[in-house]
Amino acid sequence: MSLASVQKAEAANLIPTYERYPVLLTHGRGVYVWDVNGKRYLDLLSGIGVNGLGHAHPVVKKAIVKQAGKLLHTSNLFFHEYQAELAKKLTKISGLDRAFFTNSGTEAIEGSLKIARAYAQAHNTNGSGPKWKIVALENSFHGRTYGALSITGQKKYRDPFEPVVPGVEFVKLNDVADLERKFDHTVCAVVVEPIQGEGGIRPLTQEFLQRARELTKKSGALLIADEIQSGLGRTGKWFAYQHAGIQPDVVALAKPIAGGLPLGAILASSEAATAFHPGMHGTTFGGGPLTSAVAVAVLNTIEKDGLMKNAVIVGNYFRNRLEELATRHKFVKEIRSKGLMIGIELDSADKAKTVVKEALAKGVILNRTNDTVLRFLPPFILQKKHVDEAMKVIAPIFSSLEAQ
Ligand SMILES: *Cc1c(COP(=O)(O)O)cnc(C)c1O
Repeated sequence: MSLASVQKAEAANLIPTYERYPVLLTHGRGVYVWDVNGKRYLDLLSGIGVNGLGHAHPVVKKAIVKQAGKLLHTSNLFFHEYQAELAKKLTKISGLDRAFFTNSGTEAIEGSLKIARAYAQAHNTNGSGPKWKIVALENSFHGRTYGALSITGQKKYRDPFEPVVPGVEFVKLNDVADLERKFDHTVCAVVVEPIQGEGGIRPLTQEFLQRARELTKKSGALLIADEIQSGLGRTGKWFAYQHAGIQPDVVALAKPIAGGLPLGAILASSEAATAFHPGMHGTTFGGGPLTSAVAVAVLNTIEKDGLMKNAVIVGNYFRNRLEELATRHKFVKEIRSKGLMIGIELDSADKAKTVVKEALAKGVILNRTNDTVLRFLPPFILQKKHVDEAMKVIAPIFSSLEAQ
């Protein structure tokens, strides 16, 4: 099997939704992946923020093999051992009370929006009129299914699929006055990424998050935190909202939760969870025994191996190295990071494109998001020596851009 033959077969047989890098990956170990030609890459993207424990982690492998030999699927008509165990773990680390499991991030958002609308409907007994408006943020990204798409604050994702779900209003990033202007008693939920991911690694200010919490609390609306990219240890805490000292009512999770297997989760306060009764929501695959067992193993490993502390130490080291590099290059506009969620904004999309391409050619994987932002979402097991390795590749590429 060669890259060319796979490219040809895909071009002829797939619905063309992806622009892939011209690399055919075959295996990985730790922070590295290898392509079909035996070339090694330092993976500073972990899929897209998925392989938090890196590739082929022995704990993940062991949990998969063990469960594969016992029971893969039960449907949600039956009990199995791991769903409650995983829910118990997630509620403990989040400060929330209940969980529902999905197969992806976008489904976790869909379910969260359904909770918000159903909760508002059930509590709308004071004759104050409909309460179904959802406030989301400009520049946000919440997924590709209709509900999640409708609250995604980037027109390029929504426009081809109009009309989207009605009742959504967008607020300017970190603009408290705009939030206050658009928030009223008709709002059933405010949805935030505490650190916008796809939108270019843009943290929400503590002031904005706290104001969103106050307004929703006062009016009985729900605050929904999309922690699909920022959650589960990447920023140095289990959840990015914990840096801002707020407690949302609902949290959406996915990407790194099951070490690379598809799993998502909605966490809710016991109050918000009253929105759902048996039969109102469900899924065939979500929370199956394989993904749940692996997620328990992943979360235990993040804790046991001190990977959140590692994310802070190595993340800060990475940031310092990048800041030092940025002092030599005026085209670096800003570096934004929390732990191992790192973005470097350049002054042009072309420069960002060049960096990604050249780095890949030299065996370092990162990506470009929001046109001009270089994004790093490395595995939580990244070490300083890997950062040094990455800088040896990135620094000369930055220097070569000066000549352009
Ligand atoms: C990736 C992502 C999603 C969508 O998750 P999928 O698993 O791709 O459906 C939603 N929100 C954020 C913040 C994400 O990073």
